[in-house]
Amino acid sequence: MRLEYTGPQKRFRLEVREWLAAHVPKATLPSFDTEVGFAEHRAWEASLAQGRFSAVTWPEAFGGRGCGLIEWLIFEEEYWRSSAPLRVNQNGIFLLAPTLMEFGTEAQKQRFLPKMATGEEIWAQGWSEPGAGSDMAAIRCTAQRDGDHYVINGQKTWSTRAVWADWLFGLFRSEPGSQRHHGLTFVLLPLKLPGITIRPIKQLNGLAGFAEIFFDNVRVPVENRLGDEGAGWNIAMATAGFERGLMLRSPGRFQQTAKLLVKLYQQNRERADADPAIRDAVMRSWMGAEAYTLATYRTACRLNKGAKIGAEASTNKIFWSELDLLMHETAMQILGPQGELMARSPEPADPGNGYSWLDGFLFSQAGPIYAGTNEIQRNIIAERMLGLPRA
Ligand SMILES: Cc1cc2nc3c(=O)[nH]c(=O)nc-3n(C[C@H](O)[C@H](O)[C@H](O)COP(=O)(O)OP(=O)(O)OC[C@H]3O[C@@H](n4cnc5c(N)ncnc54)[C@H](O)[C@@H]3O)c2cc1C
Repeated sequence: MRLEYTGPQKRFRLEVREWLAAHVPKATLPSFDTEVGFAEHRAWEASLAQGRFSAVTWPEAFGGRGCGLIEWLIFEEEYWRSSAPLRVNQNGIFLLAPTLMEFGTEAQKQRFLPKMATGEEIWAQGWSEPGAGSDMAAIRCTAQRDGDHYVINGQKTWSTRAVWADWLFGLFRSEPGSQRHHGLTFVLLPLKLPGITIRPIKQLNGLAGFAEIFFDNVRVPVENRLGDEGAGWNIAMATAGFERGLMLRSPGRFQQTAKLLVKLYQQNRERADADPAIRDAVMRSWMGAEAYTLATYRTACRLNKGAKIGAEASTNKIFWSELDLLMHETAMQILGPQGELMARSPEPADPGNGYSWLDGFLFSQAGPIYAGTNEIQRNIIAERMLGLPRA
């Protein structure tokens, strides 16, 4: 593999870097798990869209730049390097958008993509239910056809951003009495419809990062269905592939965390070196971020040649989620007990590099759970990559 960027790729990197240097807000925005923070992150999405940087891989007609995967990786590296805000519309831009482009009608693409690109409409994902998490085929929420509408009843849970989001994409049982992955339909619906109740769920840090959603005879027009009635499972599996594949967690994120961790270690060597295992963990973190970067470039090159991402999406997901845990656990060890104090406590740790290790540490605990738990990913690897018998 020759690791060399082309002239246009180098110029693109420079353009991204300069734009971000001029536009990234100087002060860190409040968390998007607060009402004020959500609004400020929405405004940031609009600003990104003005620079045509909110969805660089999308076609130009929908507000993108038609970039390839290598340019996307370059964009992400620069994005994380600049400490720009987290993306509040990640569910829409990176999960629903590629699904819409593959399965949506022209009218649906025209209706939903431009407002997604500008942050005017922020999306939540509605798959999990109290009895259907890892076993998503156990979905019980129903979408019963009534003329030119579906009538939705039931409950979804763990829906990220749903507290303040505008729209939801979800999977519902449209064929009464159907079992498992048969008879499910993929539906797009506004979260402000009559009959919808949203109950925020507090996370470990006290903020409402996700919500339970209750549906009581909610009427949704049939044109909001994505793909054919009853064909929702295959469409949702495509979305899950996009989620676990390249775009959920780009290497730029982990390279930036590794860089900050090395800095934190250097600033606290006296304490950190008291335990030689810490230096070793810092080194492994940095090497892990580099390895993930190289592996992702290799995958991107394969995909550029027409290959499809398969079960390796599962190995990626396990790798980055465990790497994130290692990096944040190591930082917490370096910071010592003071690192465990929340920002609003009297003497929180101040590593001085503009990053809250505690927030990152708490969120890293969720990495092995969301986007399909790591146990489920291991089952996929065992069956599809190693050919082992089903558990
Ligand atoms: C931060 C975060 C954000 C999320 N956002 C969303 C969202 O926006 N929309 C949404 O729909 N959902 C979301 N989820 C939910 C997430 O998809 C589920 O938590 C996940 O699929 C696991 O389901 P569960 O919680 O019901 O756990 P369960 O499925 O009950 O699993 C419990 C434990 O059993 C293990 N287990 C289950 N089955 C097997 C098996 N066959 N083999 C081996 N081990 C097994 C699991 O790995 C896990 O450790 C989010 C979760 C988190 C943590």
